[in-house]
Amino acid sequence: MSETSLDYDLVVVGSGAAGLSAAVTAAHHGLKVCVVEKEDAMGGATAWSGGWMWIPRNPLAQRAGIHEDIETIRTYLRHELGERYDATRIDAFLEAAPQMVSFFEAHTVLQFADGNAIADIHGDTPGAGTGGRSVIAAPYDGRALGDTLHKLRRTMPDTAFLGMPIQAGPDLMAFLTCTCSLRSALHVGRRVSRHLWDLVRHGRAMQLVNGVALIGRLAKSAVDLGVDLRVSSPARHLLIDNGQVRGVIVETSKAEVTLKARRGVVLAAGGFPNDEQRRKQLFPRTPTGREHWALPPESANGDGLTLGESAGGLVDTSLYSPVAWAPVSRVPYAEGHEGHFPHIIDRGKPGVIGVLANGQRFVNEAHGYYDYVDAMLKAVPDGEEVASWLVCTHRFQRRYGLGITRPAPVPFRHWIRKGYLKAGRTLEELAAQCGIDPQGLRRTVDEYNVHARQGEDPAFGRGSTPYNRKQGDPTHRPNPCVAPLDEGPFYAVKVVPGSFGTFAGLKTNHHAQVLDAASIPIPGLYAAGTDMASIMGGYYPAGGINLGPAMTFGYIAGLHVAGQR
Ligand SMILES: Cc1cc2nc3c(=O)[nH]c(=O)nc-3n(C[C@H](O)[C@H](O)[C@H](O)COP(=O)(O)OP(=O)(O)OC[C@H]3O[C@@H](n4cnc5c(N)ncnc54)[C@H](O)[C@@H]3O)c2cc1C
Repeated sequence: MSETSLDYDLVVVGSGAAGLSAAVTAAHHGLKVCVVEKEDAMGGATAWSGGWMWIPRNPLAQRAGIHEDIETIRTYLRHELGERYDATRIDAFLEAAPQMVSFFEAHTVLQFADGNAIADIHGDTPGAGTGGRSVIAAPYDGRALGDTLHKLRRTMPDTAFLGMPIQAGPDLMAFLTCTCSLRSALHVGRRVSRHLWDLVRHGRAMQLVNGVALIGRLAKSAVDLGVDLRVSSPARHLLIDNGQVRGVIVETSKAEVTLKARRGVVLAAGGFPNDEQRRKQLFPRTPTGREHWALPPESANGDGLTLGESAGGLVDTSLYSPVAWAPVSRVPYAEGHEGHFPHIIDRGKPGVIGVLANGQRFVNEAHGYYDYVDAMLKAVPDGEEVASWLVCTHRFQRRYGLGITRPAPVPFRHWIRKGYLKAGRTLEELAAQCGIDPQGLRRTVDEYNVHARQGEDPAFGRGSTPYNRKQGDPTHRPNPCVAPLDEGPFYAVKVVPGSFGTFAGLKTNHHAQVLDAASIPIPGLYAAGTDMASIMGGYYPAGGINLGPAMTFGYIAGLHVAGQR
């Protein structure tokens, strides 16, 4: 076999959750598997993610005594997805998702921790869960990866603390309360001192949590099963023979290499969040394709969709939203480099509100990240820049942080000097700094404060659902999501539309096979993760609805290609 042509049973394009899930599943069932990754590090958006997976009826919930009827989950999704509810693919997901978790638990180093206290986003919808539908990869010690560690993407710098990922839940809570609790201070002290030692010793974070733990554990599982993991190997073309996909041609620094795939190819290249052309065609309020600040790495720029189309696959654009919206602020780093910060945890805390340029609120800020941007797009009049401002007091900033500015004792004033954080002694001064209508902002805050002093938000109902309350501060009474903005100085951060990834993608069936224009499976071609049109129809009913299906349909594709389904 020459080095320019290699033979496998399965070739997977992309090394995120979906690709590695497919690879590990197929390799466990005896297939010879290769994963090709465009970048010099594996993990894609998954490695930068919070790592939460929506897996209703998962084994960890079952073991904790949470037993839900599958019909309750269907009810929730039917109400959330409306006419875009695809019963066949939803059932495939609901049935295979718990099996996927059991499979990895039993046969690989991918072990999980539960999210039994995490509620679905829309608590008012029939069938909404109050817990037991989420899992996350258990923390992982990077040292267990051996040489493979060097092929692992580092944590997203914007969301990390000194390069160290922090896990939502007790870990994050300890960081937020380290100035007022000895227990938290000890936890933070242990985490930070171990991290500093790891930086000296290994040059990177080694206490892997969140998405990077998921990728670390999947990558180790793949290595254990003999999967060939090839970084710096972008897939450029599919090998197609008589309508059947038979392999992939990748480009390396030395030559083009043909990777033949006897059984199939899985496209898992991370969708198109960074493809300006497709954004321009598909995203609302994005006239040039550039009015969008995507969070995933640059490499997620539509290659999987283009490869799928080259074999006759169709991109499904009929979803309610083509994109998984995330509210983002633009972070000015040194030398003109810009980061994108996802506002996931600050919006629901007590003492912050979101306003438009007219100074008015437009949404329950403690609802989901997707809901915030969806509401912003609807509320900003046509022709105006789609943007809003998160406004808070000095006390709020020091207690919880705002955007990339961290809470006490971490210094924050350099962010004012850089122009990221706007500041004013009064609301009017702050409004002038931001370009917000000062009278509008004053009126909004005065009205909001009247009720906020009683812990109420009659305008938008902050704190009205279990999800809201989880986003708030459990120690704040009476409403964990509501506090007045009554004492300056005040701060604000500008928030613009960004995304966790894309929802539009290749049309597939319940086996993750890519479908052609006649809805017939293209022989040998699968798609999973964000290359596959989201089963959620363009809606965002729960945290983890990207990674849960990505892991599950990767698993389904792996089983199908191995003849196990
Ligand atoms: C900050 C952040 C937080 C998030 N938190 C969550 C969360 O908690 N829960 C959740 O469900 N979702 C979350 N998401 C979204 C989620 O991470 C993504 O939807 C998911 O990781 C996509 O997985 P994937 O396997 O499809 O693609 P990715 O993980 O993006 O992997 C795709 C890989 O394919 C590679 N690639 C691209 N083109 C080629 C090519 N031509 N050849 C070879 N390789 C190629 C890319 O370089 C990349 O490494 C978050 C996203 C971000 C950015």
